[in-house]
Amino acid sequence: MTAQCLLCEPPVNREPSDHRWIVQTGRWAVRSHPALQVPGWLAVHTSRHVESLADLDHSEASSFGQVISAVTAALQGATGKDRIYTYSLGESIRHVHMLVGPTGVPTDPEGRGGAYLARILRRDQSLEDPTAVQQILKAVTTSIAYLEATP
Ligand SMILES: [Zn+2]
Repeated sequence: MTAQCLLCEPPVNREPSDHRWIVQTGRWAVRSHPALQVPGWLAVHTSRHVESLADLDHSEASSFGQVISAVTAALQGATGKDRIYTYSLGESIRHVHMLVGPTGVPTDPEGRGGAYLARILRRDQSLEDPTAVQQILKAVTTSIAYLEATP
């Protein structure tokens, strides 16, 4: 852990009533998007401080596929969206994390693809809906709670 790592701090201070948290396995944590309350947007990150995918240990690397697949399936079920996007830049937070989330509103011309991801990246607050965020978090939490039993 580094003194300024946003993703290292929360697991230590995790509160059961904190609905931003979904699941923490021995290797991976799943939480709501740390900077924007967009319905269905989550962060999947390593439980320990690791700065690059190249530095994952064997168990982190081998369990990553199971976690990202489970999160994607849970988001599809909770949102009804046919596409779930993923991206990882590591520019502002140097801790392995993948942001995962559904497409936007179908009628929005900037609700899909690169235009939508650009809005997520620039923290477009018009996308926020805290009530919908909580509903989706509850559904996803129920769907992937079994992951906590994995090492
Ligand atoms: Zn960290």
